[in-house]
Amino acid sequence: MAKAISPCIFCQIARSSNSTPLLHSDDKVVAFKDINPSAFRHYLIIPVEHIPTVNDLQRRNEDYTLVSHMINVGETLLRRDAPQSNQYRFGFHQPPFNSVDHLHLHCFALPFIPRWKQLKYMSLGPLGGFIEAEKLLEKIKPLSPIPP
Ligand code: AMP
Ligand code: ZN
Repeated sequence: MAKAISPCIFCQIARSSNSTPLLHSDDKVVAFKDINPSAFRHYLIIPVEHIPTVNDLQRRNEDYTLVSHMINVGETLLRRDAPQSNQYRFGFHQPPFNSVDHLHLHCFALPFIPRWKQLKYMSLGPLGGFIEAEKLLEKIKPLSPIPP
C-alpha cells in the first residue's frame, strides 16, 4: 500500500522528505532556517513527533525535557552562527497566533530585520501572543524533581 503523505509541512521537514536543509537533527528534534526570517538569524526548532501547539504540552518530565532540549539546540546553533550578536530570543506563538500547527521554537539572533517585525513576537498579556521559552518552561516544570 502507498505510504500516506503527511499534510503537515513540518512533519515532512522532520522526516527529511522535502528539500529543506537541516542545521541539526537527532532522535527528538530538528532545526532549520525560517523560510521568511524576521531577524539577523532566525531558526526554528521542532520536535520530530507531531505535537500541534504549546497547548498540548503538560507539566510533566517528558515535555519539560523536550522543550529544554529545543532551547539548548537553538542556543548552541545561534552561538555558533551569530557569536557577534549580543542578544538572542527564544519563544513560541500561542494559538490562535501561530500559523503552523506543529510545535516550533523561534530562535532569534537580533536585531529584528526590519525592525517592525519585533511586533510579531510580543506578549499580548492575557490574550496570549508570543511566550518566551523560559516562561513556558516555568509553566510546564514538573512539581516533583526531575530524575537524573
Ligand atoms: P508561527 O507564525 O509562529 O506559526 O511561525 C511559523 C513560521 O514558520 C513562520 O515564521 C514561517 O516563516 C515559517 N515557515 C513556514 N513554512 C516554512 C517552511 N517550509 N520552511 C521554513 N520555515 C517555514
Ligand atoms: Zn507535523
